[in-house]
Amino acid sequence: MADLNNKSIYTRAVHAGDRNDAPVATPVATPIYTAASFYYDEVETIDHIFAGNQHGYAYTRYDNPTVNALEQLVTSLEGGFASLATSSGMAATHIAMVHALQGRERRILAAEAIYGATIRLLDHVIAPTGVAVEYTDIFHLETLEAHITRFQPALLFIESISNPLLRVPEIDKIADLCKRHNVLLMVDNTFATPLLVRPIELGADYSIHSLTKFLAGHGDVIGGIVTTTEPHWPTLKQLSKTLGALLGPFEAYLTMRGIKTFALRVERQCRNARAVADALAQHPGFGRVYHPGRTDHIDHATAARLMPNGIESALVAFEIKGATREQMFRYIDNLKMVVPATSLGDVHSLMLYPVMASHRDVPPDTRQKLGITDQLLRLSCGIESADDIIADLLQALN
Ligand SMILES: *Cc1c(COP(=O)(O)O)cnc(C)c1O
Repeated sequence: MADLNNKSIYTRAVHAGDRNDAPVATPVATPIYTAASFYYDEVETIDHIFAGNQHGYAYTRYDNPTVNALEQLVTSLEGGFASLATSSGMAATHIAMVHALQGRERRILAAEAIYGATIRLLDHVIAPTGVAVEYTDIFHLETLEAHITRFQPALLFIESISNPLLRVPEIDKIADLCKRHNVLLMVDNTFATPLLVRPIELGADYSIHSLTKFLAGHGDVIGGIVTTTEPHWPTLKQLSKTLGALLGPFEAYLTMRGIKTFALRVERQCRNARAVADALAQHPGFGRVYHPGRTDHIDHATAARLMPNGIESALVAFEIKGATREQMFRYIDNLKMVVPATSLGDVHSLMLYPVMASHRDVPPDTRQKLGITDQLLRLSCGIESADDIIADLLQALN
């Protein structure tokens, strides 16, 4: 860089300290690269990078070293070919859906009872662009196959664990079915995380995360990511370069820091959820209890087949027996440790009332049909001691 000794203070303010020689030592953690653009000793290098003949950094909307480090990390965990980090989980779902429809029939089939904002995305953003959207029961493979045969969608969208009843679909069999019918399979793997299940290894084309939840894990960052397979990668990356709904380097850094402990956290959170489920199931104050690790869960066999033994879900859902709406509110207000906030996957336990929050817009009769009663609560277990979580849940009954 230029010798600044004789330059004015205006000049030194923008040049001094920056763009010095590369450090001789390797930092043990990935630095936060905030630069919007990058340059090389020879301009020809940038030419090769822009042309796509050489990997490197030119402009952060294309590639950023901090964000790339996070993408490599998640790719490794998910067992995919490459990943694209985005500004939120919804941005990840959006770009992946737009990608899946490129050059294909404009029809999407989605599982019933998926995340509320994903339904809004499909019905109010994707459908108005001329895409036919239908919803289906993914828990009966024959019905699903019949629906696919009739509707011939380009894409099937499912979640690896559903909210709030924690249904677990047979992802591997659904993937086989999709392959036979030339349908792409996209799995929102937010609730399960790659510790429990890795959809791409089971045959899916895309695995999506809201990084906001278990992967970042501390309730202090919003982000998303799409992991995909080799054939889809070049066009997905190209789409991202154009749309630009990227994750910033600060969020990428925070997320990567969080992911270092994700397996430890999620394993503990799953064991806590199971302990909570078993304790509440024995207590007369509670109604139905849902946890896929328990043999009384409708998808226990699938969870046992696809997930590691004893770590099937960090969430648990349960009913307060016979409670009115007022009693439900009082129960939530009575919690002394569990945090009554939206979201899930944080290090602290979080309680959500589905009929008031996530399923507010679902008509009451549909909710009833799905089994989402006015007495149902969803708990995302944190890494606290299971005994302390259970004690808080029991004392709140009073
Ligand atoms: C939170 C969530 C999303 C959306 O993620 P954001 O980061 O909030 O945009 C999508 N799917 C599931 C299952 C989620 O829990």
